[in-house]
Amino acid sequence: MMSSKVQDAFNEQMKHEFYSSYLYLSMSAYLDAANLPGLAAWMRAQAREEAEHAMKIFDHLLDRGGKVQLHPIGGPPAQFATPREVFDQAHRHEKEVTASINGLYGLAVDERDFASRVFLDWFVQEQVEEEKTSGLLAEQLRMVGDDRPGLLMLDRELGQRRGGASAPPPAGG
Ligand code: MG
Repeated sequence: MMSSKVQDAFNEQMKHEFYSSYLYLSMSAYLDAANLPGLAAWMRAQAREEAEHAMKIFDHLLDRGGKVQLHPIGGPPAQFATPREVFDQAHRHEKEVTASINGLYGLAVDERDFASRVFLDWFVQEQVEEEKTSGLLAEQLRMVGDDRPGLLMLDRELGQRRGGASAPPPAGG
């Protein structure tokens, strides 16, 4: 059984993860409309991963006898200035998620909820990866700048991603 404090914080984090999924879907739609199907596919895979993160928390709440509360999810921005702005924003967003996970981790320790603390280890590790990847892509888009061929090359490369970041690259790709 988890304390109501921990339960509320997990429900709040679950909402953040679903919002991340919404945000990345919105970014994916923008990139698709901007004729960048590779970047759009990458962002769509990212959105799917975020929904999986939310569901991990959903299951943890149920496993620990907590109450699932599905709070309203805010609408993400629908317009972005440039593809580079999309990835800058994604990187900033991941840093916010890291801060939120760290807060939750601290609470689990304070409340002596050790099962939740161990559960959150995975999320702490995942955020290292998320910040690294989103930061790298933001930086690469900055390097590409207004160079259209460079952007198309990056689009092709990111289009290789299938079924999530941890999936192996396709054979021969
Ligand atoms: Mg996440």
